[in-house]
Amino acid sequence: MGKSLKLTFYGGTQSVTGANFMLESSDKKILIDCGLHQGSKFYEDKNYLKFAYNPSEVSTLLVTHSHADHIGRIPKLVHDGFNGEIYSTIETKEIAQIMLNDAIKFVLKEAREENRKPIYNEGDIVKTISLWKSVSYHQDLDIGDGFSAYFKDAGHILGSAIIEVKYNNQKIAFTGDLGNSPAPFLKDTEPVTDAKYLLMESVYGDRNHEDVELRKEKLKDVIEKTINRGGTLLIPAFSLSRTQILLYELNDLVENKKIPEVPIFLDSPLAIKVTEIYKKRQKNFKDEAKDLIRSGDKIFDFSGLKVTESSKESEKIHYVEGPKIIIAGAGMSDGGRILRHEKKYLPDPKNMLLFINYHSPGSLGRIIQDGVKEVEINGSKVSIKAGLQTITGYSGHRGSDELLEFVEEAGRSKRLEKVFVAMGEPKSSIFLVQRIKDYLNIDAISPEVGEQFELDF
Ligand SMILES: [Zn+2]
Repeated sequence: MGKSLKLTFYGGTQSVTGANFMLESSDKKILIDCGLHQGSKFYEDKNYLKFAYNPSEVSTLLVTHSHADHIGRIPKLVHDGFNGEIYSTIETKEIAQIMLNDAIKFVLKEAREENRKPIYNEGDIVKTISLWKSVSYHQDLDIGDGFSAYFKDAGHILGSAIIEVKYNNQKIAFTGDLGNSPAPFLKDTEPVTDAKYLLMESVYGDRNHEDVELRKEKLKDVIEKTINRGGTLLIPAFSLSRTQILLYELNDLVENKKIPEVPIFLDSPLAIKVTEIYKKRQKNFKDEAKDLIRSGDKIFDFSGLKVTESSKESEKIHYVEGPKIIIAGAGMSDGGRILRHEKKYLPDPKNMLLFINYHSPGSLGRIIQDGVKEVEINGSKVSIKAGLQTITGYSGHRGSDELLEFVEEAGRSKRLEKVFVAMGEPKSSIFLVQRIKDYLNIDAISPEVGEQFELDF
């Protein structure tokens, strides 16, 4: 007998960030992700708004992965009355705890500066973690009232999952973010093969990336060039995922003597903590990486790497003469330790600044990337004479062609009836919708914020 469920897009549609989807029957409300809306400010105004539903009526929250745009409003959900169960992989839970405990300082700072009540407080994070349970990949999880959930590897960051929710023998799959496979040590994205509905991301719905193979060559070139002129290479990097991929690639370049050995500093307390989780949770890495680990290689650690956790150690970096590499946060140079290094090294033409991740318009990193000759950092004018380089191949998202292939594979069973294209800028989502309709002849739509659909189960 057919039954009907409702699917509502409370966030994460017509936008990359703020993922928040609700699947409900007459007996149960399930949320998938509860992310932060991110723009020029860390906590933009939309995050302060009340949820459009009553959080205390939600029984279960399923979490795809630990990026802020998927977990950032969970403590607010708890603050506003959610008292149900939260499920994710163990990796996602552990990284989320680190990320939320780091983000609280921005929550409190921005609230203080704008003279408003913070969207949540430290106690809400403690409660969030107490409600949070972990689940393994490929395990049928009964979540009650006829629903079960199944986590597949999304290959996007450590612990990331595609979540298939099963009800009345039919499935809807929530992709979260889909990895740019093949990745260096994460497994490839698993396919969805028998779902009736698919709710997918579309960050790169309208474009493809630079070749993954090319990026390591480029990285090697930039390092060699900087070392040859005796300079310092600065790499602002996101603490979660981007930093670990970079360490993995540097490990290979250093240990196989493809670059001269110089001091390499990992100067970000947050990235150091996240890297510890990557070191602890290697069970789900791909075989190639596991073979390396088995052969005795510490894949995120190599000779010359110096981890500077305390600010005292960090301050000593500037006394290290000669060529060196500094990896630091924040990833878009809009705060953190990278600022002190940029202030010191940008005015000298022998140094180099390398962009490996997205920089949103308005961030200091973007302003520098756009080519201005002078910026203000912590109240001082800093002239930019250092070289600038960009490598775009580090994206953790699938490009447009691979997104389409993913849907093609999901459609092979002939069960797939509708694709909801979300988690992208409107032009990316609309472009992908059109490709799915034109090339695959499968019904697709890019929902509006707040839009609700009746699903036939
Ligand atoms: Zn993500």
